[in-house]
Amino acid sequence: MMSGDGLVFRVRPFFGELSVDQAFGLCDLADRFGNGILDLTSRANLQIRGVCEKDQATLLKALDDLELIDSNPAAEGRRNILIAPHWEEGDLTHQLCRDVLQTLPDLPDLPEKMGFAIDTGAVACLSSGSADFRFELTTQGHVMLRADGAQGGRVIPRAEAMRALTELALWFVQSGGSAAGRMARHLERASLPEGWDTATPRPEDKSLDIGPTQRGTVLGAPFGKIASADLRAVLRQTEVASLRLMLGRTLLLRGAFVRKASGFVTAPSRLMDVHACPGAPYCAAASVETMPLALALAPLTVGSLHVSGCSKGCAYPKAAMTTLVGRDGRFDLVRQGRPWDEPCQSGLGPDEVKTMGDLG
Ligand code: SF4
Repeated sequence: MMSGDGLVFRVRPFFGELSVDQAFGLCDLADRFGNGILDLTSRANLQIRGVCEKDQATLLKALDDLELIDSNPAAEGRRNILIAPHWEEGDLTHQLCRDVLQTLPDLPDLPEKMGFAIDTGAVACLSSGSADFRFELTTQGHVMLRADGAQGGRVIPRAEAMRALTELALWFVQSGGSAAGRMARHLERASLPEGWDTATPRPEDKSLDIGPTQRGTVLGAPFGKIASADLRAVLRQTEVASLRLMLGRTLLLRGAFVRKASGFVTAPSRLMDVHACPGAPYCAAASVETMPLALALAPLTVGSLHVSGCSKGCAYPKAAMTTLVGRDGRFDLVRQGRPWDEPCQSGLGPDEVKTMGDLG
């Protein structure tokens, strides 16, 4: 993708995991071709920003050498897969993800943003992530497939999982879903075929928080920014088996116990409730800087806060208690809403916003 500061390369690690060598390799590529920062996205992918067009082919080759690109371009383009982070080799989650990877090239043509969630680990943890086809477990532990936007799904025998996925994808296309672009939007107008809304998924477990866990340490990356130097430092300070990218702009250092890590948060932090996209000058659509205002407002507010460079809302396409949206060099204020919702105030300067006192 072209952005305000050059090309953006999105890297989707297989099974949501990076080996230590891959992580070091990405740090080197971010320094050599990008701006030295890896962006951890809301879909738990990484981005290298600020790449010159002339370096495009070299960077692609380097990512291929790190085994971070699918050799099948059709599969690579569709590889929007969220996976519950605590999978083990050969378990149900790992197997389902492997099967989805193999099935991707055979699925009908789906809109580019559509994606898949494999939420069949010990606890449910992906419902807040962006996905259209969700593999989950019922409250009794049966595998089910749920169309995003539907309350329930369909229980599927394990051996039939990919056939069921293909069937649901075909229904989406044949019922005109491509015009809506996403499953949940399509279901606002269309009804699923009979039997696709009968099974209830397990409730979400909210306990996966930042800090030490039995499997390693979960680090938070404020605003999703990971400086290559900070990531290298944390990888050198301790033995890490691998890195797993997680929702909420967090990552798991498997097998490692870390108390302090420069550039990351290692305990629940107010900063992780604050969202900001790159803004100006990094994105061509932005007319305002976002991160300085977000940092200044973080200690002055208590509820969820989103500073967005424009109404697209890339960093947090959801409702926040306070959303500030850049427009023509000033900010619109949306309370309890999304960046594209009707603002209650407009034309605010950053200093005006900082002294408002009632932002929430
Ligand atoms: S929200 Fe707008 S300004 Fe921010 S990154 Fe997305 S397109 Fe750019």
